[in-house]
Amino acid sequence: MSDQAQSHSSPTLTDRIESLALALGFDRVGRAAASSGPDTARFADWLHRGYAGEMEYLERRSAERLDPSVLMPGVRTILVVGLFYEPREGSPEPDNANSRPRGRVAAYAGGEDYHTVLIDRLRTLAEGLSALAGRRVAARCYVDTGPVQERVFAARAGIGWVGKNTLVIDPDLGSKMLLGVILTDLDLEPSVPLNDHCGTCRACLDACPSEAFPEPYVLDATRCIAYTTIEKRGEIPLEQRSDQGDWVFGCDVCQDVCPWNRKRRVGDLPDPLVLRERLGPRPEWAAPALAELLALDEETWSERVRGTAVKRARYQGLIRNALVAAGNSRDPSLRSAVVRHARGSDSLLAEHARWALGQIEGAQGSSN
Ligand code: SF4
Repeated sequence: MSDQAQSHSSPTLTDRIESLALALGFDRVGRAAASSGPDTARFADWLHRGYAGEMEYLERRSAERLDPSVLMPGVRTILVVGLFYEPREGSPEPDNANSRPRGRVAAYAGGEDYHTVLIDRLRTLAEGLSALAGRRVAARCYVDTGPVQERVFAARAGIGWVGKNTLVIDPDLGSKMLLGVILTDLDLEPSVPLNDHCGTCRACLDACPSEAFPEPYVLDATRCIAYTTIEKRGEIPLEQRSDQGDWVFGCDVCQDVCPWNRKRRVGDLPDPLVLRERLGPRPEWAAPALAELLALDEETWSERVRGTAVKRARYQGLIRNALVAAGNSRDPSLRSAVVRHARGSDSLLAEHARWALGQIEGAQGSSN
C-alpha cells in the first residue's frame, strides 16, 4: 500500500508535506520517483565525453548518481525543494563604492553559504515526515552535498524544466533557485513534470562568454567560467583567461540573459523566515574591488569568506581569479597590487600575475 493511500481524509499526506515545506520557508516543493531512467543515464555520457574536467568526485560515485537506490537502498520518493535567491530589495551598495575596477561574484554566492541556509530547514522537513506519515520514515537530506542529480529529480518533481543552459527554470520566477533533496522510503504519487518552454530561444547558448555549451542542454564544464573559477585547481588555461572577463567567483551570464529570469519578481515573494535575505550578497561580496581582493593574505581571506560559499575556491583560486580579472581590466591602477604577486613565492599566482601585467602593459603600450 502506498503511503499516500494511508491518508483517506483531506488534506492528503502530500498536501501536508507541501504545507510543511512552505512553512519552513521553501518556495517550491515536489515529488519524484526515485528510479533510474533515460534522464539519469545521460550523466554517464556526459562523463564519458570528459565534460566533468577535474571534478573526479563525480566519476567516483557515478553509480549512486545514476541510480539513487545505490545511494539509499529502499528509497522510493525524492522530495525536492527550491528556494529562490536574490535579496528582496536589490543588491546592497558594495563596500568601498568608489574603488574600481571591480570583480563579479555569482549571485548565489555572496551571502550566507546556501548549504547552511538550506540544510537545517531540510532536516526539519525530513524529521517532520515521520509525524506526518504516522510511521518512521527513512530520509536522507542533500544540498549539493551528495551523489544525487538534483536537477534531474527537480524536473521530474515539477519544480521546473531543465533549460538549454542545463538549469532548472520555474515558469514564474526563473532559474535563480537553490535546490535541496530528501531521499525517502515514502511511496508517494510523483508530481507532474512541466513542459520545456525554451522553444526556439538560444540566448544562453549565444551569450556564454566561453562557448561552454557544445549543444543545447549540454554543458562542457571544462569551459564554463563557474567551473574554472570555483572547481578548477591550478592554472586557468591561457586561451580561457580573456573569456573570464571580470568574474572572480562563478558566472551568471546564461541566467541573466534568459527571458524567464528577466520577467521574475522574486522580491514579491514572502520571506517570513528570512532565508532569502540570508542568501543576499554581503556588501564585501556585492562587487568586490579587485585591488582589495589582491591585497588579501590567507588570514584576511579566511575572515572575508567565512560563512559564505566563496571559500570553495580556496585562497589561491580566488587570488588567481582576481589576477585574471585584473589582467582583463587592463587597468594600470592595479599594477602594484599585481606586481606583489608576480614577486611572491606562489609560482602559480606569480605566473597569472605576469600574465596580468602583460595585459595591463600591452594596453598601455597600444594607447601611447
Ligand atoms: Fe532556454 Fe532561452 Fe533560457 Fe536558454 S536563455 S535556458 S534557451 S529560455
